[in-house]
Amino acid sequence: MIQATVSVPPPVNEPVRSYAPGTPERAELSRTLDRMAAERIDIPMIIGGKEIRTGKLGEARMPHAHGHVLATFHQGDRSHARQAIEAALAAKPAWAAMPFEERAAIFLRAAELLATRYRPILNAATMLGQSKTVHQAEIDSACELIDFFRFNVAFAARLLSEQPISDSTMWNRIDYRPLDGFVYAVTPFNFTSIAGNLAAAPALMGNTVVFKPSVWAAYSNWYVMELLREAGLPDGVINMIQGDPAELSAEILSHPDLGGVHFTGSTAVFRAMWKTVGENIERYRQYPRLVGETGGKDFVFAHVSAIDDLDALAVALVRGAFEFQGQKCSAASRAYVPASVWKKLEPRLVELTQEIRMGDVRDFRNFMGAVIHEGAFDRIVGYIELARSSPDAKILAGGEADKSEGYFIRPTVVQVTDPKHRLMQEEIFGPVLSIFVYPDDQYEETLRLCDETSPYGLTGSIFARDRAAILTAERILRHAAGNFYVNDKPTGAVVAQQPFGGSRASGTNDKAGSMLNLIRWTSPRTIKETFVPPTRVGYPFMEE
Ligand code: NAD
Repeated sequence: MIQATVSVPPPVNEPVRSYAPGTPERAELSRTLDRMAAERIDIPMIIGGKEIRTGKLGEARMPHAHGHVLATFHQGDRSHARQAIEAALAAKPAWAAMPFEERAAIFLRAAELLATRYRPILNAATMLGQSKTVHQAEIDSACELIDFFRFNVAFAARLLSEQPISDSTMWNRIDYRPLDGFVYAVTPFNFTSIAGNLAAAPALMGNTVVFKPSVWAAYSNWYVMELLREAGLPDGVINMIQGDPAELSAEILSHPDLGGVHFTGSTAVFRAMWKTVGENIERYRQYPRLVGETGGKDFVFAHVSAIDDLDALAVALVRGAFEFQGQKCSAASRAYVPASVWKKLEPRLVELTQEIRMGDVRDFRNFMGAVIHEGAFDRIVGYIELARSSPDAKILAGGEADKSEGYFIRPTVVQVTDPKHRLMQEEIFGPVLSIFVYPDDQYEETLRLCDETSPYGLTGSIFARDRAAILTAERILRHAAGNFYVNDKPTGAVVAQQPFGGSRASGTNDKAGSMLNLIRWTSPRTIKETFVPPTRVGYPFMEE
């Protein structure tokens, strides 16, 4: 116990390492990749700090070499969901009573461990298990997760210092309590950092957590748990369980002590969870906080004045649409291009797309790996088939797919003549970019079309030199994207620089990577203390 108003270390974004040939980080990562690929680990659930093995095993495989099993993981049932809740509730009093700076120190230590010894481990796990290239792994499982840990500590400290006004007769204070009950963190396969943050952000604020990772990221998420345990996270603060998500969630979402849900994943799953919470509303001891970041149908919109920056536009489309195989909630998956720009852009875009190298991510020359699993492969190929069979769609590049060794889909560019084509409306979550070419003189009409075409509102970009055109796009597309980019690709948000989240069908827009997110994990108590309490019932106006 110390007596001090402490200041927290000022955070800076973790520098992204290059992994260029000859660099020490590349050599270390290569060794780690070889070592980890050569072993097969056994992943237990972690409940109350204990390793739980049920023998009901799932397998984590490499998406780019699906014959290769990296790990087996133990899966539980409803009884494990109940045990995880009990462990979270048991750990809660001591964790919530721990001074903020002591809790914060655990996450700062985790950040430092991840910046050093764990960096190659988490990056290798994310590359092998989720088929990210080294750069995509580095910006996710290293830099973004480090940033979440460090910046959240600073954001939380700032939040705690937000206090009401007082005067000489009274002192008003706000006590930033954790939520009642426990928090349920349900996480997606596509970002290791999101998995870590969905569990860690509520925990930093004094909550205890039941953490259910995606089975498709079980391998890297295990190392996140290992990292947090090594950093000193007490038993029971984050309890990691695996199993059938619908079964586990049915148990957890109907528990009277559910205090909040921290979810990232598809819109359909979040809506189903919200419905379950609604159906159970009378059972709870509090109104659970529901925070969900979900799907997107993210756009790149070009104005005629973008013609002078053709390479910037083409590169934004290729990187935005195809990095990590288009499996980012923010991936560019529809574009609107004026006819005059398209004439020059089309050959460049097709050329750049055809040049893309795809393959095993351990070969650092590859720009793309495989999509996450067979179900995703089949779904994405279904959209390519739709493009092939549609009279109002034409495949300009890509379209080939092969799942014999890994789930590989070539980056695919489709031109549609119907701006409301399903390819322009639905989230595909794969390397498919659909393009609608509009008449040069229909800028505003087409901006409105872009705004109305999809139910989502996550990310989007405008490319233009003409400042008035940028202003018009900002106005008409104001609600079309929670993260809006000017002359940049719509992916790659950085913690504390571009707080992330969208509205409409894309989520509750609680902006991961900012103080706004942390506000959701606290239930403030206002304390008023009077120094001179009144000693008479009557008021002056009542006097004779
Ligand atoms: P998903 O919805 O399939 O799975 C997400 C999580 O929900 C997993 O842990 C899964 O096990 C669980 N789940 C699945 N069925 C469930 C059920 N019936 N009840 C409770 N939980 C259930 O999503 P995914 O494939 O892992 O991730 C891709 C999706 O995530 C995309 O839609 C993408 O746009 C979205 N995403 C959004 C953001 C964002 O910030 N907006 C970020 C990353 C991913």
